[in-house]
Amino acid sequence: MKRLFKNIEALGTFDRNQTEWTQAAILVEDDTIAAIGSDPALEHVQADEVIDCSGLVIIPGFVNTHHHLYQSLFRNVKGVQNAKLFDWLTFLYERWKHIDARAITSAAKVGIYEMMLSGVTTTSDMFYLFPFNQNHLFDAEIQAARETGVRFHPCRGSMSLSKKDGGLPPDCVVQTETEILSESIRIIRTYHDPTPKSMLRIALAPCSPFSVSERLMVETLELAIKEDVLVHTHLAETQDEERHCLERFGLTPVALMEKWGWLNPNAWFAHCVWVSESDIERFAEHQVGVSHCPTSNMRLGSGIAPIAEMLRKPQIRVSLAVDGSASNDTGNMIQEARNALLLQRVTKGADALAVKTALECATYGGARVLRREGELGSLEVGKAADFIGFSVDRLEFAGGLSDPIAALVLCDAKRVDLSVINGEIRIRDGRLLGVELSELIREQNRISKEILTR
Ligand SMILES: [Zn+2]
Repeated sequence: MKRLFKNIEALGTFDRNQTEWTQAAILVEDDTIAAIGSDPALEHVQADEVIDCSGLVIIPGFVNTHHHLYQSLFRNVKGVQNAKLFDWLTFLYERWKHIDARAITSAAKVGIYEMMLSGVTTTSDMFYLFPFNQNHLFDAEIQAARETGVRFHPCRGSMSLSKKDGGLPPDCVVQTETEILSESIRIIRTYHDPTPKSMLRIALAPCSPFSVSERLMVETLELAIKEDVLVHTHLAETQDEERHCLERFGLTPVALMEKWGWLNPNAWFAHCVWVSESDIERFAEHQVGVSHCPTSNMRLGSGIAPIAEMLRKPQIRVSLAVDGSASNDTGNMIQEARNALLLQRVTKGADALAVKTALECATYGGARVLRREGELGSLEVGKAADFIGFSVDRLEFAGGLSDPIAALVLCDAKRVDLSVINGEIRIRDGRLLGVELSELIREQNRISKEILTR
């Protein structure tokens, strides 16, 4: 199947030369970009379908590297709207423990469709909550994600340390190390697809230093190396976490990761707010990946991650992420790019983070973090056909088109009009194709209310 997307008003490839085109075209053959260039150059190409992209600005699809999809049931929860991380977590664990397969299915679809409408074509998800050993919740989430058509990197998360052992979560949501590791093997063997242009890859993700044991961190890493999958966790999100690590282990969060062997090129960490200059040096030395979650960090008052400083070290793979909807209340990657930009500039000045760098973190940076920069994150011949288009004939862009690609961030684009994932058109004229949202929204509200009033 050949599809020609032509008359593209502006095209940002985010390739290594930062090539941009006006009046451009993309030829897609099945799941792959077969040609890209100016409209006249591709004029005589034979295609099965021609899609007119007049008025559209096209860039690579966003790669979201950190999320907790189940939390789309727990946005804006009354009682913790103004709480910081540890209080917020302690309150919410008591609600989260009531989730089941029906809840996960609904939450995953809502979270993914919401992100797709904001331009996400690949997303990761850290799912670490298995109340009363409901291991099948992970399978339910994968099934739901498959139905959406998104490229998916679910992380088998875990918590093994409950209150009685000095952790934060209640007993009923943690599992034993043995169960977590055997489930991790089952999930990898059942779902992980390492082939090129894979739509599903598994990573392993113990939740955080305050909810898992040292043994689980070390053995999870060993298993991931053996099975050749990536590892992911939360790191240095708050000052409370730093205090917790210093009291329990006598080490800062980053030093702890180094001790456990977790600083390596197959690992990525969410947040990294409270990191020192020497931590950043260590990140570079070990080529780790970082998921910067600016909205979540602002919402919980966690602090400002030194992203501008990390970006000065090209060995560090910096990406953007929405984080769970309980600490963001939305799931919008354009907003993350905009907030990343504004947040760095608050204290470091207008040149702290360039507009196109913010977009690059949201696209190519995400692909690097998931170790897929050879296939995703930029628009180049041979790469996966994952791209998004924004109609710039809208009120919010009027008068702002001297640089239409930067306008997506600076003029605050709301939603995509076109989304192509692995060569399939998933959103056209701003609508998700073949998806009935109203029943999904009703079901989601029903479940959310049921859980919160239990
Ligand atoms: Zn998180």
